[in-house]
Amino acid sequence: MQAFETSLGRVRDKTFVLVRLESDGLAGYGECIAPAAPFYGPETAETVWHVITSFLAPCVVGGVVEHPRNLLSAMTAVRGHAMAKAAIEMAGWDLFARLHQQPLWRLLGGTRSYIEAGMSIGVQSSLDLLLQEVGQAIENGYRRIKLKIRPGWDLGVLESVRARYPSIALAADANGAYTSADADRLARVDDYGLEMLEQPFQAEQLIAHARLQARIVTPICLDESIHGSDVAESAIQLKACRAINLKPGRIGGFTESIRLHDLCVQHGLRLIHGGMLETGIGRAHNVHLSTLSHLQSPGDIAGSARYFAPDLIAVPIAVTSAGVIDVPDGHGIGVHVVEDRLDGATVRKWAWQGGGRTRARGSVESGGAPC
Ligand code: MG
Repeated sequence: MQAFETSLGRVRDKTFVLVRLESDGLAGYGECIAPAAPFYGPETAETVWHVITSFLAPCVVGGVVEHPRNLLSAMTAVRGHAMAKAAIEMAGWDLFARLHQQPLWRLLGGTRSYIEAGMSIGVQSSLDLLLQEVGQAIENGYRRIKLKIRPGWDLGVLESVRARYPSIALAADANGAYTSADADRLARVDDYGLEMLEQPFQAEQLIAHARLQARIVTPICLDESIHGSDVAESAIQLKACRAINLKPGRIGGFTESIRLHDLCVQHGLRLIHGGMLETGIGRAHNVHLSTLSHLQSPGDIAGSARYFAPDLIAVPIAVTSAGVIDVPDGHGIGVHVVEDRLDGATVRKWAWQGGGRTRARGSVESGGAPC
């Protein structure tokens, strides 16, 4: 894949768990967002593999699921591990939509068949290169640009981009790279007309975010902090943010995403849809969810061909010159997974058929799920 750099490091390859749920001859997919290393959050592809194969699959596979909104509660015996749960839950929604011959966005309660595209641009090796990237993104129709920042690559960068492009919708994301000692410096972001400053401090530091939010006009957007709607409610009560970055894969899937969406409507918080360098499968899920009514302004959802060549889906999710992405047409997530490419990229496989393992490559044993 094309490299992407943030305050958390540089990503060149992507290792992730892909869940495939089958019923009545159809299959639904869920792409887990947990990366190989625990830098974004505590879960990794390996912990997800362990938790799904030992505990979560036996909770849900083989039983009767009336509606995918019941899947997350079927997994409550397992504490945390929202990313692992989300991969199963989102595969369930895809499968359910396919079984009912509906596009996923309709089932989720979406309000339109397209979304506005936005792009997140990583740390570059030079300011010139960054300005080129921003210019190219605008030329390609993107309606919002988010810049990754970190100490040493922050205010000067924002100042230069804002000077070159005075009217673009611009945001900055620190991925928790600062501490409270940086508050005076961070308060200067108000000079650059940002839509939002995302996650300046570490995930657990709601109070630090509240203190900074009280000092600045720029809305603080929380991403890593929000692992569910309960913590979002705490953040709202503490006035720790005025916006939230929604990633269904971070909070247990679509049911919790809809809850978070409705909470933001209720409290007047802005909501944008974030991305995690997904392949076309995960990106298709993001596009469908982005059709919810309160997700109208562009977030981080770009075309799917940006990082992976070739992608795992037959027809890439593309951005039009008008800066929009049409929701993939068809049942479920509406994309065709190219099995040959998927097989070629698969390093390990495990299957569960309600009541027992049917095939295993690797050495994982069932951990005896309590559900
Ligand atoms: Mg972020």
